[in-house]
Amino acid sequence: MRTVAVVGTSLAGLRSAQELRGRGFDGRLVMIGAEPPYDRPPLSKDFLLGRVSVDDIALAGQDDLDALAAEWHLGARAEKLGREGVTLGDGTTIAADGYVIATGAVARNLGAARNLDGVHTLRTLDDAVALKRDLAAAPSSVVVIGAGFIGAEVASACRLLGHEVTVIEAMPVPLAPVLGARMGAVCGELHTENDVRLITGVPVAGFTGTGRVTGVRLGDGREIRADLVVAGVGTRPATEWLTGSGLAVDDGVLVDSGCVTANPRVVAVGDVARYRCPLRGRRVRAEHWTAAGEQPGVAVANLLAGSTVTRFARHGYFWSDQYGRRLQFAGVATEDVRITEGDVAAKRFVATYHRDDVLTGVFAIDSPRPFTRLRRAL
Ligand SMILES: Cc1cc2nc3c(=O)[nH]c(=O)nc-3n(C[C@H](O)[C@H](O)[C@H](O)COP(=O)(O)OP(=O)(O)OC[C@H]3O[C@@H](n4cnc5c(N)ncnc54)[C@H](O)[C@@H]3O)c2cc1C
Repeated sequence: MRTVAVVGTSLAGLRSAQELRGRGFDGRLVMIGAEPPYDRPPLSKDFLLGRVSVDDIALAGQDDLDALAAEWHLGARAEKLGREGVTLGDGTTIAADGYVIATGAVARNLGAARNLDGVHTLRTLDDAVALKRDLAAAPSSVVVIGAGFIGAEVASACRLLGHEVTVIEAMPVPLAPVLGARMGAVCGELHTENDVRLITGVPVAGFTGTGRVTGVRLGDGREIRADLVVAGVGTRPATEWLTGSGLAVDDGVLVDSGCVTANPRVVAVGDVARYRCPLRGRRVRAEHWTAAGEQPGVAVANLLAGSTVTRFARHGYFWSDQYGRRLQFAGVATEDVRITEGDVAAKRFVATYHRDDVLTGVFAIDSPRPFTRLRRAL
């Protein structure tokens, strides 16, 4: 393999390049990315709170980037992948023997509401800068739509910044699909215990305001005043540029358990990849930092081997920081939840999930040591 093109230069793309060089690939390495490599998790946490700057969230220093001896096309968007190679927005086509797809995901927006001032999503640094600027203009009422991890973290940051915050969640219990109903309810309490109003089980029906948003209309007829709205309503994989590539795409690039597409010269990693998870027995998009950092090791080994010789079989792990507390989860949630350490009411505990008495998952709030011990037992 003489040339490898990596498309997407964030966490999964950068790690892929490092893996390629680390495994002895000494050919031409082409890096194509709409943005420079930076870390996303701080965007909804310390960056929003003003505790870290743009420089602090770079994923690699200039020396590390230079050490890759790569050809960089930053600020360049791949428009097409075809037989002749990757075509960029300026018409340049880069032919390669191997391709790593690492284009991640984009935030879902709220349809027509996106045209109202004061309505935000949070995925990119530009989004975070815009949100931070708008918050600094001192809106008093912030409405967060969606009580998933991004929504919860934004609500927490806005509250810590002194805003009045309402979180609206369409499901009866926040985070239930990920953590189960019992632990999801505990996460819901984190909002209410920190003077954030949590409204669950009601969808958003629309928005009020012309020019700038003034309120959110709920499905039950209520109207919640809003000076600023943040939608944390999930993502969709960045796959538009793959239309016509011949690759199978269905809520992500479909890959096997080794992150390889039906074409062994093309692998996909990180949030854009919907891989066959051996532990779950179905295809999933991991959408977590750890998976985006670990999948490249597997994908690149397979790309260089020309076939799937190794699989990604790690238990999903993620963390979240809300209201000064650290939440951690690994594995799979079930209905059989047991509190193994700590005190749920004090929001410092470890819970384990079981199926037929076999440990399947661990969730913890502010208990990193026991969490790590139990995670190893998974
Ligand atoms: C605000 C926020 C907070 C988060 N917090 C946590 C957390 O606390 N814990 C956790 O586990 N995970 C967290 N995550 C998730 C984690 O950041 C992602 O899983 C991770 O960033 C995925 O990395 P990736 O490289 O696959 O995709 P991305 O980070 O999305 O990177 C994809 C890159 O590809 C570029 N790109 C897209 N299309 C094209 C194209 N056509 N041509 C060229 N370039 C393109 C994009 O601009 C982007 O730079 C958070 C995510 C966000 C947004």
